[in-house]
Amino acid sequence: MFKAFLIKYAEIGIKGKNRYLFEDALVARIRQVLREVEGTFNVTKEQGRIYVFAEGAFDYEETVEALKRVFGIFGICPVVVLEDNGYEELAKEVVSYMDRMYPDKKKSFKVNARRAKKSYPLNSMELNCELGGAVLDAFPSMRVDVHHPEIMLNVEIRSKIYIYSEIIPGPGGMPIGTNGKAMLLLSGGIDSPVAGYMISKRGVKIDAVYFHAPPYTSERAKQKVVDLARLVARYSGPIQLHVVNFTDIQLYIYEKCPHDELTIIMRRYMMKIAEHFAGENGCLGLITGESIGQVASQTMQSLAATNEVCTLPVYRPVIGFDKQEIVDVSLKIGTYETSILPYEDCCTIFVAKHPVTKPNLNIIKRSEKNLEEKIEALMEEAIRTTEVISVE
Ligand code: ATP
Ligand code: MG
Repeated sequence: MFKAFLIKYAEIGIKGKNRYLFEDALVARIRQVLREVEGTFNVTKEQGRIYVFAEGAFDYEETVEALKRVFGIFGICPVVVLEDNGYEELAKEVVSYMDRMYPDKKKSFKVNARRAKKSYPLNSMELNCELGGAVLDAFPSMRVDVHHPEIMLNVEIRSKIYIYSEIIPGPGGMPIGTNGKAMLLLSGGIDSPVAGYMISKRGVKIDAVYFHAPPYTSERAKQKVVDLARLVARYSGPIQLHVVNFTDIQLYIYEKCPHDELTIIMRRYMMKIAEHFAGENGCLGLITGESIGQVASQTMQSLAATNEVCTLPVYRPVIGFDKQEIVDVSLKIGTYETSILPYEDCCTIFVAKHPVTKPNLNIIKRSEKNLEEKIEALMEEAIRTTEVISVE
């Protein structure tokens, strides 16, 4: 029945020059996701509207699923597109549309006509009345409700005529690439993929860094992170995943520093290395999946101690979420099942039995003095040997 979609997007705050940047980014991202879908598509911007036209056969469900992952889309409207062959023809098409869309005719509706082509002989009010009458004549069990209709029947008269009544919710947010770029610290857990999703929803392109510690962490643990990056990339677009070999740094900290401070010190070096790659890739911030109080390394004191090494802003979009709220998002975006696979991540092997929960920054810094001899060289080595994986 449908060969086209009208794409609705939120228009608040996107006036003037920003508007076309927003629209162009949205069109580009729609084209990108549709490349994975069976069919040939033409995505166009006409008179401040974005349409997706399918050329020939295409997979309807897959197309809708793909569009549901495009940030910036508020609603996806499957639309019937007609040539203007006069009012009688239009009325016939509208009746046929209602017949096919709503087999159960015991429904209330309202016609919402919009005449953008001012030369059309009937104005919007007249179209509402005439088309409403035509539907009622054809289906007497339907009724008009102008306040709370079950069906809002939209008829837009432009150079062509567009009929639609269904709005499939999109993910909202802003098109990828309209808000710069940030570096996600991606682990194999539940929280960081959700954090990446949330920031990229605001139009931020993301890259990622994962710290692994072979042989303490396995190839499968790494593969799990690659898989998670791929799941996030379904929304965020391609991700450059930096896989840093962190083993020597961890062992060195383990050797030289008090074990109850290990996690905090390790996290400080993770941040420093992440910031290095952020700088190299033009990222304007770091992203983590931290949430206040979730574990010892996420108390206010621990977060302050970790944050202290960063010069870029650190975005923590799940900071105020309870675990269940984070889980709910991960279920919604499809990362949960992968996140709960049991492979160890590098933090679980080196955690102390009783890590400090209220680290004192002066004490942490004093402990880090023990690392002075080799840590710079080890960091350089870790950066030099980092593997970059392009994930789409
Ligand atoms: P997650 O579920 O995201 O793994 P978590 O609850 O296990 O989080 P931590 O292990 O304390 O919490 O990690 C906090 C944050 O630090 C993570 O959300 C992630 O952003 C980052 N992080 C932790 N470990 C790694 C790692 N091995 N590689 C990259 N980032 C990491
Ligand atoms: Mg973790």
